[in-house]
Amino acid sequence: MHQILEAIQAGAAGEELANLPVPESYRAAFVKRDEVDMFDGLDSADKDPRKSLHVDEVPTPELAPDEVYVAVMASAINFNTVWTSIFEPLPTFGFLDRLAKESAWGARHAQPYHVVGSDGSGVVLRVGSAVRNWSPGDRVTIHCNHVDDQDPSAHDDSMLATNQRIWGFESNFGGLADLAVVKANQLMPKPRHLSWEEAACNALTNSTSYRMLVSHNAGAMKQGDVVLIWGASGGLGGYAVQYVLNGGGTPVGVVSSASKVELLQELGCEAVIDRKAAGYRFWADEHTQDEKEWRRFGKDVRALAGRDPDIVFEHPGRQTMGASVFVAARGGKVVTCAATSGYMIEYDNRHLWMKLKSIVSSHFANYREAWEANRLICEGRIQPILSAVHPLEAVGDAASAVHRNVHEGKIGVLCLAPAEGEGIDDPAFRAQVGEDRITLFRRHGA
Ligand code: NAP
Repeated sequence: MHQILEAIQAGAAGEELANLPVPESYRAAFVKRDEVDMFDGLDSADKDPRKSLHVDEVPTPELAPDEVYVAVMASAINFNTVWTSIFEPLPTFGFLDRLAKESAWGARHAQPYHVVGSDGSGVVLRVGSAVRNWSPGDRVTIHCNHVDDQDPSAHDDSMLATNQRIWGFESNFGGLADLAVVKANQLMPKPRHLSWEEAACNALTNSTSYRMLVSHNAGAMKQGDVVLIWGASGGLGGYAVQYVLNGGGTPVGVVSSASKVELLQELGCEAVIDRKAAGYRFWADEHTQDEKEWRRFGKDVRALAGRDPDIVFEHPGRQTMGASVFVAARGGKVVTCAATSGYMIEYDNRHLWMKLKSIVSSHFANYREAWEANRLICEGRIQPILSAVHPLEAVGDAASAVHRNVHEGKIGVLCLAPAEGEGIDDPAFRAQVGEDRITLFRRHGA
């Protein structure tokens, strides 16, 4: 990979890259099949990704006709890598075994190791015989919607495909590595004004937030909507706030520290609630929710926004869902894509039906939505929310920070890129967008 890195840094043409040998093995971050029981008996909080994530050489898999090899310059941590590394709610090897049964190419994925990572930026090295729109040398970002386009159910909205998967979570050979194997229909142009790590951190959560709020497949936010955003300085929330501001809405951000309040205000979100300072106790005990606390929270939201939220951007799950359903406006929507604090949800159904609210499910994004979300980054209309950067060897520390919720925005990981700040192809456009806007989270995280 050293030769490949040197060629990329020297600006080698695609033909030259295509002629360099692809190594038989590459450096990758992975969990091991024979370690899936290592945290048995521990509470979630005590399961340590630093113990289960390994960085070592793995063999390079063969390339299918619809795939490309990408030399990964940088990647990022997503919460799904935390789930894989603590083997919750299930070890992800079951996903790989299921994929293995689908086809001869799928069989490559069932290995004793699972190379994780669902984001990446880099350079195309080789394309399979069926790939039309991409060539060696193309500088790309990768989205994680892994879809078999020969399946009729994958058409219309590919997120509805029966065998839709998240690359690097439900498939192997993910992005936290020096090399990745991806389908050609996961590729998108790299934003030319961003460094490798700034370009790598967006696709998963930016596209998810786009679908949740902007797409007609989920939130379909309107101008003037009030949108309550849980975890508003986190991986999903940091983009959600930007979509609401861009779309002419009023974001009400919820976070858990004074420093995050400050960060959101710098991002342009004026209405912010510090949930820790407010001390909401939506659950009186493990089994009982406290409607008085929902009311207190609703009053606080109304005091900031002037009215109840048209959309609640929901992902914490069990801890917050009861409150989310309660505070949504009459006719409003709770758009949910996750359940970090628990997936067995309870809410008072009377508040839902009597006030004609709806709960809308959303999951990642189809290619079109991911492409649109990437285009907005390329045009400088949405900024990356990169707050910290680690080398691949420290991937366990990076995942641990996300697991412990001690981070803001996204944590980037340098793969082949030896240092931060490389890969900016259009410094003039960068200056036009504004260094301060692009690096807001990074400066805050420093
Ligand atoms: P993240 O960077 O960790 O941000 C989540 C934020 O949620 C945190 O910053 C935290 O903010 C807040 N939070 C955590 N626990 C909470 C609780 N009990 N009550 C209220 N707020 C809480 O993670 P992310 O990338 O935004 O992802 C969030 C969840 O969405 C994860 O479960 C992830 O797996 C899932 N996800 C799903 C999809 C999909 O396609 N379905 C895509 C991306 C992510 P404060 O502490 O500041 O309040």
